[in-house]
Amino acid sequence: MQLGVPMNDLSRRLRAEEDELTAVFRDVLAEGRLIQGSHHTAFEQELAVFVGAEHCVGVASGTDALELCFRALTSPERRTIVTVANAGGYSTLAAQRAGLAVRFADVDPVTLCLDPSTLVGMLDDAVAAVVVTHLYGRAADVPAVLDVCDRAGIPVVEDCAQAIGATAPWGKTGSAGALSAFSFYPTKNLGALGDGGAVVTSDHHLAAKVRALRQYGWSSRYEVSVRGGCNSRLDELQAAFLRLRLPHVQMWNETRRSVIGRYSDAASSSTRVLEANGLWHAGHLAVVVTEDAADLARHLASRYVRTDVHYPIPDHRQPALAEMYADVHLPETEALTGRILSLPCFPEITEREVDLVCRALGEY
Ligand SMILES: *Cc1c(COP(=O)(O)O)cnc(C)c1O
Repeated sequence: MQLGVPMNDLSRRLRAEEDELTAVFRDVLAEGRLIQGSHHTAFEQELAVFVGAEHCVGVASGTDALELCFRALTSPERRTIVTVANAGGYSTLAAQRAGLAVRFADVDPVTLCLDPSTLVGMLDDAVAAVVVTHLYGRAADVPAVLDVCDRAGIPVVEDCAQAIGATAPWGKTGSAGALSAFSFYPTKNLGALGDGGAVVTSDHHLAAKVRALRQYGWSSRYEVSVRGGCNSRLDELQAAFLRLRLPHVQMWNETRRSVIGRYSDAASSSTRVLEANGLWHAGHLAVVVTEDAADLARHLASRYVRTDVHYPIPDHRQPALAEMYADVHLPETEALTGRILSLPCFPEITEREVDLVCRALGEY
């Protein structure tokens, strides 16, 4: 047995699900269709229904999902994406892969999600889309972002990679933007047994465009109707595994939220656990804000509690990009550097492990 509390342990669920996963694998073998078979079609339909949208397009990863969203929304005149700089850099990378420029908005110091007031003056005729990331599982305030973007005639892309199932008063995450991106990376709340992703939308025209883009730009076999296509498909096997897990997501999210709630109750006054106490949160990560995150990490490590940082370096200060964005200043985003720490949070964490983390947090 491992000493201490891991950040995550995927092997626990794999062990518990072994028989079911094996049965699914046999199913796919028996059908013999390895690309876009019946599980793939069914999963697309099931995820669209789950989110409350009309269409779902399976793709190879969350980063690809973002890139295909951007490719579907850009025009020769509009070649800039607006996003935040504190969300792991995926939207920035996706925009760069699509050959687009990136402008960074700042975040709200309480939610750490995009602060729509910082979009003022940023939304000119060059902007193709604004990305709103539901960070750590929290449903960001999409209506407030839409309010600003609708007036400028700019579509909103929701990055739902960390927040599948979060249910806000206006609907589930992914149901309000023009296009929404999902990731099924194994540690996400709905994880595959490898990489996977999806784009969700209620716009028939955009759905058709993303569907073409994910498969060589084809409108039908061997007929290229959309430029900028690629090969980014969701595997049949992964779709089949995801169908097995989708019905459990809300229950797993509930467990994650309750773990975060326990940490929140146990934390001493020198740490602030970001709240996750409602259906509007998917409980993806348990994040604390504190004066000196490295010091807290050392304290927790001395109590055998593993931690991580999501994310240590904002996009505009990454070594590969810093020169390009030297003039960009994001006061709230930069103020988080060195002050955030993620705690162990996954559905299979044991009571004893949560107790250990709580005790260590309380002692700090
Ligand atoms: C994980 C993640 C992605 C990228 O998903 P991949 O499937 O790993 O490419 C995008 N955005 C956010 C916020 C993520 O957490």
